[in-house]
Amino acid sequence: MYLPDFELHEARTITEAADYLARFSPDVRVLAGGTDLLVDLKVGRVKVRHVVSLTRLSELRGLREDGPSFQIGALTTPNELATSPIVRERFPALLDVLRDLAAPQIRKMATVGGNLASGVPSADLPPILISLHAAITLQMGTRERCVPLDSFFLGPRRTVMQAGEILTAIRLPYPPGSSGSAYARFAMRQANACAIAGVAASLQLGRDGAVAAARIVLGAVAPTPQLIEPAAASLVGRMVNEDSMEVAATAAMEAASPISDIRGSADYRREIVGVLTRRALALAHRRAQGA
Ligand SMILES: Cc1cc2nc3c(=O)[nH]c(=O)nc-3n(C[C@H](O)[C@H](O)[C@H](O)COP(=O)(O)OP(=O)(O)OC[C@H]3O[C@@H](n4cnc5c(N)ncnc54)[C@H](O)[C@@H]3O)c2cc1C
Repeated sequence: MYLPDFELHEARTITEAADYLARFSPDVRVLAGGTDLLVDLKVGRVKVRHVVSLTRLSELRGLREDGPSFQIGALTTPNELATSPIVRERFPALLDVLRDLAAPQIRKMATVGGNLASGVPSADLPPILISLHAAITLQMGTRERCVPLDSFFLGPRRTVMQAGEILTAIRLPYPPGSSGSAYARFAMRQANACAIAGVAASLQLGRDGAVAAARIVLGAVAPTPQLIEPAAASLVGRMVNEDSMEVAATAAMEAASPISDIRGSADYRREIVGVLTRRALALAHRRAQGA
């Protein structure tokens, strides 16, 4: 399978990238790590004659503490994110994802922004970032807007990004005290396999140890990542134990709308959602207790 012919434009500034996008729209795509886009071009899922590479835009790389939030440049790779001391200390749940994402070669090339912008339902970073209340910055020329990640995805490979917009950064608010998050995924093998299902959970505990706030987000079992409010609401005001986790897991299974495909039937996926919800909640709870 060969790449089709296309013209590659290497942008040196965000403005230059915006100019290319405006000039060649709609016959153009942005290239970050290329781990999704080059496959899409090869198999003909994407057919464009112009590709604008962002790889020279150093301002889209790196991690920054930005007041009350942690800012991840869109071109940051999973490997770079995994080695950040801030991630290890404040966002250990991201390591649950980064450890198993693809394989070492892909973790060096792929980007965090690309994992979101591709809008693939089985992508692993969206559920955990949504559970952590992430927001993203989209830029078109000099115009910028901020979108909560939970309203970014519209359907498989569809997002609210408009033609010409570039995802420049992801912002994560620092979690309050007594809170913990976790991500649990299941795939046919440990490396280079899309998630059959993934569940992210985040919990904040009150002084009495009961749940004060919760978020549960499913991945790979609906056209977009799914924030399951009934599952989270069932935990609020309760202690985390086998009973309350079972109620939340059942609510998550009921809310999931998986499809049957080569990787598993809808029933199988729903069952896995229950198991993963309990696992993610148990780990998030241990972390919230300071483990
Ligand atoms: C073998 C293999 C295994 C994989 N395993 C996993 C896995 O386990 N879990 C997982 O989640 N993913 C997995 N992936 C998918 C892939 O690696 C990720 O989705 C990756 O993070 C995409 O980032 P990228 O920089 O390579 O995106 P690209 O391929 O460069 O771009 C992907 C899409 O997003 C758009 N885009 C990229 N960046 C931006 C931006 N800043 N602004 C606007 N649009 C943008 C592009 O135009 C394109 O449409 C795997 C891929 C491969 C090839």
